[in-house]
Amino acid sequence: MKSDFDLNQQIQSTESKIVASLERIAQAFRVLLWQESKEFALSPIQVQLLIFLLFHSDEKRKVSYLANEFNMTKATISDTVKTLENKGLISKVHDLQDTRSYTIDLTTKGKEIAEKTAGFTKEIRVPIDQLHPDDKENLLLSLLNIIRHLNLSQIITVQRMCMSCRHYRTDENGAHFCQLLNQKLEVSDLRVDCPEHELKD
Ligand code: SF4
Repeated sequence: MKSDFDLNQQIQSTESKIVASLERIAQAFRVLLWQESKEFALSPIQVQLLIFLLFHSDEKRKVSYLANEFNMTKATISDTVKTLENKGLISKVHDLQDTRSYTIDLTTKGKEIAEKTAGFTKEIRVPIDQLHPDDKENLLLSLLNIIRHLNLSQIITVQRMCMSCRHYRTDENGAHFCQLLNQKLEVSDLRVDCPEHELKD
């Protein structure tokens, strides 16, 4: 089987070069996240969890949702939550109807760290900011298509992007439309993580 990392093959293939480039960028995310984690004596997953909790609503701040989001077992997420609780960075708000279920809230200290670490991608933003607007739109569409394929292949489980949403439509010219917002979506309006997203059947 051909490998995108076989240099003889890669040198002649634009597709292989794109795959290899995405792998380098994934590595950059890991390095940046690791640097940020070290500064606060946390693990990368603990930092990712704090950032996720900072920006998402109550129903997504539960162990089972987080397990799907991060492709981890509920037991692993529960352990991470327990560690963050012991560090005073999160608190559990128990459901009055079912005391085994709880929502996870950031404490003041947890919110401070989440806000500081949430900018860990700023070096990745530098070259993106410098792209021509048309190139940004092409890049966004290409990445959304890759993510959609990975989602349909069940490699990435949770998606909150337009293409997987029940409110998303396209017309015969391929124009994008959101039925919930009742508006046409330009490419730059397409969302990767939409709070109103509802999964298509
Ligand atoms: S509800 Fe959000 S994700 Fe769904 S189509 Fe509209 S903008 Fe996109």
